[in-house]
Amino acid sequence: MNGIIKIDEFLRSYPRMNAAPIYDGSMCLEGIIDFSADSEECGLISDSFQLRMVVPETFPNDLPIVYELGGRIPRDRSYHINQYDNSLCLGSRLRLLLTISKRPTLMGFTQNCLIPYLYAVSRKLSLGGCFAFGELPHGMKGEVEDYRLLFCLQTTDQVWKTIDCLGMKKRRANKHPCPCGCGRTLGRCRFNRRIRKFRSLTGRTWFQNVARELKREPPTQASLVTTAQKVMACI
Ligand SMILES: [Zn+2]
Ligand SMILES: [Zn+2]
Repeated sequence: MNGIIKIDEFLRSYPRMNAAPIYDGSMCLEGIIDFSADSEECGLISDSFQLRMVVPETFPNDLPIVYELGGRIPRDRSYHINQYDNSLCLGSRLRLLLTISKRPTLMGFTQNCLIPYLYAVSRKLSLGGCFAFGELPHGMKGEVEDYRLLFCLQTTDQVWKTIDCLGMKKRRANKHPCPCGCGRTLGRCRFNRRIRKFRSLTGRTWFQNVARELKREPPTQASLVTTAQKVMACI
């Protein structure tokens, strides 16, 4: 796994982070992340957070889970803290997978998924108000809304159908009625091309699990901040 996540590159850039004992097959890192990040709208912010990062064996098909250890971030929904385990809600899972696919290393995850969240939190801690760049509702509602935007669809029902298709083998999905509502089968609609890139991000089981979790609607289910992707991490 070290080869994929490029741990050396990460530790060189974040020297106050240390490898902690492996837990349940997942690599653990603990310590302090120091960052400076800039955006046109909100300017340069430099800050430090004490964190634990748990990187699953299946990374980058599954995302690291991050906890804040220093007690600076209030443990509530307005700061996008997941209530079921106090981990950080960095965004909708599909958008995060899309984001790390461009640089599928721990450094890529840190700079493109984690630091934009820390930037927004740091700003909110000092100034109050909302997250920079807007945010989706925390929880299932926000997650589904973000999938709707990613798939360019109109309704939640279409989102469910699309996730179901992504959980099937391609050949089987192509024979299904197209989720876009065009009346053709998926294989005969251009919508097929639009969702192809999501298929390449992760496995079918990932979509099957998401479909189960989202439809169950547990009140504590993960999600979502958006796209603080305008933030540039500088190190
Ligand atoms: Zn269609
Ligand atoms: Zn959230």
